[in-house]
Amino acid sequence: MRKPLIAANWKMFKTPAEAIAFIHSFVPLIQSHRRTDVVLCPAMTSLAAAHTAVTDTHIHIGAQTMHWLDSGAYTGETSPPMVKALGCSHVLIGHSERRQYFNETDETVNLKLKAALAHHIIPIVCVGEQHAEREAGHTASVLKRQVAAALVGVAPNEAAPLVIAYEPVWAIGTGLTATPEIAEEAHKIIRTQVAASLNSAIAASTRILYGGSVKPENAASLCCLEDIDGALVGGASLDPHSFAQIILNSAP
Ligand code: PEP
Repeated sequence: MRKPLIAANWKMFKTPAEAIAFIHSFVPLIQSHRRTDVVLCPAMTSLAAAHTAVTDTHIHIGAQTMHWLDSGAYTGETSPPMVKALGCSHVLIGHSERRQYFNETDETVNLKLKAALAHHIIPIVCVGEQHAEREAGHTASVLKRQVAAALVGVAPNEAAPLVIAYEPVWAIGTGLTATPEIAEEAHKIIRTQVAASLNSAIAASTRILYGGSVKPENAASLCCLEDIDGALVGGASLDPHSFAQIILNSAP
């Protein structure tokens, strides 16, 4: 049985004070809900405050990215030990905005994934096709390439914590969503590639999240199907009521 996981990607929103205010409103709304793992991914500057604010709750904190090296002359970067020291149990890797604007490549995704596993940080690896790639019928090959490249050199016996988020780029922040059928099909392709790259036991236990304009109204139909084990939520995770409703609607 794969436990659903729903993660909030706050992107470049919320100061530490705003993160704390969110958590204080949000916690009572999901207090009695234990069927889903919940992860908040604030901006780097709000991680410490958020981590303190979730003390004594079952909410986890994740970073939105990190470097793969432990230390070095890399101005502006944050290392896995630093992310861990801020209280992060999870990290997003390869979000499409990082791939699009910050030169994230399949190779750096692979380095970051291996670093996360080595530091016992749960990686949420984002993959997904662009609109033009879908139109050209390349969705399956893009997903296979991204998953295979992310998993190069990953030992199956270290890969158990792996989480993958399927985020069709055309659905992120656009209000467009994949249909449940499109998402299910993509998730099956991803799971088959995990089996090919690692093994079928890891593939069966890997949680694959859907991301792309998830809202309270579509959470029930998109978040938890046979091959969909939760969601990565951007815009609708910025409001505590809307994010709580997504969690409650997805696994009532
Ligand atoms: C995201 O940024 O990961 C995301 C899915 O954003 P949105 O929910 O706003 O589409």
